[in-house]
Amino acid sequence: MNLGLKDKRALVAAASDGLGYAVAHALAAEGAAVAICARDGDRLQAAATRIVEDTGATIHPAVCDVTSGDSLRAWVDDSADKLGGSLDIVVPNAGGPPAGTFADTTEEGWAAAFQLLLMSAIRFASTSRPHLRPGSNMLYMTSISLREPMGNLVYSTVMRPGVAALAKTLANEWVDDGIRVNHLIPGTIATPRIDEFEADLAGRQGVSVEDVHRARSAEIPMGRYGTMEEFAAAAVFLVSDAASYITGATLQVDGGKIKAVF
Ligand code: NAD
Repeated sequence: MNLGLKDKRALVAAASDGLGYAVAHALAAEGAAVAICARDGDRLQAAATRIVEDTGATIHPAVCDVTSGDSLRAWVDDSADKLGGSLDIVVPNAGGPPAGTFADTTEEGWAAAFQLLLMSAIRFASTSRPHLRPGSNMLYMTSISLREPMGNLVYSTVMRPGVAALAKTLANEWVDDGIRVNHLIPGTIATPRIDEFEADLAGRQGVSVEDVHRARSAEIPMGRYGTMEEFAAAAVFLVSDAASYITGATLQVDGGKIKAVF
């Protein structure tokens, strides 16, 4: 199948590590030129170097904190310039908010989670739009908490539905301009953040990390976590020409974890 990604101009946020890194790497492997950002310049540069060594693609790394409107706007505009004036693919992403139950939340915590997850998603739409052309597309990422509130992840659970609603609204509003907007739901994908989450859980429950991993894997019908490559493969498909008739769609990559019909 020809994915049509060679020489496409892509922007992937929060990509020094984890899901963003995996998506950027997979797009580069398909021949796209990719602008990536993260907050930590050293880790970002290391990620860019790895991608270039593995794929030979053109990578533009730049430090950006997506919770800052000014930083985000500057990164999107600079990246569009560096990539040649327009964007074919935009993949908004951000780190996850702190874990906690409702009892752990604070006004400041809610405001920070709003900036990190929902306001950044809104800003990616408004700042990217002038650089998008007919045939361009955006791919948002949320979380399985969108369909089923997750214990101890209340900030994520409350903010993600807004991102999903934004993605669907943009798909409806931009379809006449030839711009597609889709949305991916990661289930549990093995990233460094998930390792940290498991270590934290094990400490709080007084059990081993292996026990936590085994119990959480058993809750997934496929019996295991997804790999970053499996997640990135779904992203690559949705942003590619192979998905040219798909917009407003939500695809879960979760090993069967979501059992609801819709
Ligand atoms: P993560 O949340 O640790 O993200 C890592 C990347 O985000 C790093 O490159 C980091 O530098 C960057 N980042 C964090 N905050 C940033 C900011 N303010 N500005 C710019 N970059 C920032 O790990 P992840 O597992 O890759 O998750 C990515 C997103 O997907 C998160 O929002 C997470 O909550 C969500 N998610 C992940 C999973 C999973 O299984 N991994 C499941 C559901 C949802």
